[in-house]
Amino acid sequence: MDIIHLLPDSVANQIAAGEVIQRPASCLKELVENSLDAGAKRVQVIVRDAGRTLLQVIDDGMGMSEMDARLAFERHATSKIREAQDLFSLRTMGFRGEALASICAVAQVEMTTRRAEDETGTLLEIHGSDVIRQEVCSCPVGTNIKVSNLFFNVPVRRKFLKTDQTELRNLLTEFYHIVLVYPKVSFTFVHNDEILLELPAGSEKQRIEAVFGNPKRNVYTSAFVEIKTETELVNIHGFIVKPESATRKAEQYFFVNGRYMRHPYFQKAVMTAYSGMLPNDYQPSFFIYFDISPEAIDVNIHPTKTEIKFADEQTIFQILMACVREGLGKFTLAPTIDFDNPGMIDIPLPSDRPVSRPQVAVDPTYNPFHTRGAIYPDKAQKGWETVYEPISTSRDFETTTPREMELPDAGPIWQYGGKYIILPTEGGLMLINQHRAHTAVLYAQFMDQLAHTQGATQQLLFPEVLELPQDEMILVRQMQPDLSAIGFDIEQLSPDSFSIQGIPAQLANQSAIPVLQHIAQQVRERGADTQREWREQIARTLAESAAVPYGQTLTENEMRDLVNRLVKLPTYARTPDGKIIVSIMSDEEMNRRFS
Ligand code: ADP
Ligand code: MG
Repeated sequence: MDIIHLLPDSVANQIAAGEVIQRPASCLKELVENSLDAGAKRVQVIVRDAGRTLLQVIDDGMGMSEMDARLAFERHATSKIREAQDLFSLRTMGFRGEALASICAVAQVEMTTRRAEDETGTLLEIHGSDVIRQEVCSCPVGTNIKVSNLFFNVPVRRKFLKTDQTELRNLLTEFYHIVLVYPKVSFTFVHNDEILLELPAGSEKQRIEAVFGNPKRNVYTSAFVEIKTETELVNIHGFIVKPESATRKAEQYFFVNGRYMRHPYFQKAVMTAYSGMLPNDYQPSFFIYFDISPEAIDVNIHPTKTEIKFADEQTIFQILMACVREGLGKFTLAPTIDFDNPGMIDIPLPSDRPVSRPQVAVDPTYNPFHTRGAIYPDKAQKGWETVYEPISTSRDFETTTPREMELPDAGPIWQYGGKYIILPTEGGLMLINQHRAHTAVLYAQFMDQLAHTQGATQQLLFPEVLELPQDEMILVRQMQPDLSAIGFDIEQLSPDSFSIQGIPAQLANQSAIPVLQHIAQQVRERGADTQREWREQIARTLAESAAVPYGQTLTENEMRDLVNRLVKLPTYARTPDGKIIVSIMSDEEMNRRFS
């Protein structure tokens, strides 16, 4: 007896469906891509129970004829390619003609569709590849597909779905990938009768803001710099976040020819361009769009993979990195400050410290109503211009990195509120948080000492005794060589105590015990397993303790010295903890405020 037989179509479809439709999110992707391929200008997505019970996509695209409506659900039925070689010049999203066939194999599908030129539309209902009914109906132009009870006939698949929360997150992720490349199409996303996203047609930037510019996602396009480069090989454009607005959790997106892609190698190119500008474990958000001839990429034939191979990845890596660098160089001298952002003033002045009045060290001939060229170009003022002379000779905005920045060594500098140092610079009015600035400077100094030199010790007149819990004793013993390198003179007295005979000179007027206790506690809480890590903790804690406090009046020289040392650091925009040190209120920003 022959045992080989052909599988019935419905079974073959079910097996193949597993490839294309793994979860509600992949189904949504296929449906929305079809709507876009059909030229829709408006797409509505309606979801119930994270797609388990309902996934509906309504579009105003070109619709289908009665015949096409039926054919669309056949495997390898597509209107998009005719020959294999078309695959390489692909510009539509779908091309395999297997999505609808797969979906109807594993769900209950109801579709109405009508073309503009037809009086009536077609209604089609298919359950698990079986056509239940097909009839003439009246419906708007476009296509409305309702996919109910996904995997109703594949219990195993159904069981493998994650929680609604996870599946909804997957749905949204797929949705973002698409809506970010179709800003000209308006979208809505409704889940369990709640409108989650309402995206009007607009520019790319408006779309990004519409999707991510909410307190939960926290990606605001005002924090972005635009990048753009055109080469023979590839055109790149997009938006990258200014280093000062980097976050711990970032949104990072690459698109190529209108499709989302993952590309770890290019991601590295972006990170390299940012190197030295971000505090530890901060990430830049970016939205970068590549435009490249379809022949130069390997379109991934596999329907669910998002990796794409490029013919000349090394060259594109270099182009991308240079493009991001250029974008960053443009702004680093002139970040804007948002005074409406309440997060900026995050440390209240300690109420027990005297608050100094703002010290205004101004040239008596200075007239605040005379401004320099940028604000009133036709009334450029000589006196101010001279202040900027040293900079304007090397007016190299594009390539100047923060470390090369020069500051005027004359000209006004003020302290404000016992907390901020303010001075005019090339980029605008620079505001510096004095305590954080000093913390960053001291941190660099302590780290340097730990690596290279012996720090100076101030001997205590009366040695103090430090008692610590057992776990912290172990940590301090481990760190002892580093603590003495930085200037602590300590010696173990008993299993649970140290005597302190001297402390780092920079801490001269502090009491030793709380500082050491703080170090031990920080290392225990934050964890520091390597020497590098505990050195960072030591340097950070010491820097914070030794830095000028808020409310302390600074002399003009102290301010200048601090600012000059600050801008020599490799990164001066953030403290080692990631807090903002410097903000520049640009001329544009000022003008806007008075417009
Ligand atoms: P593919 O998109 O790869 O061609 P699909 O199975 O997703 O394959 O769709 C099959 C065909 O059905 C498409 O080629 C298209 O002609 C038609 N189609 C599917 N969805 C729509 C829609 N929303 N509007 C108009 N036509 C559609
Ligand atoms: Mg398709």
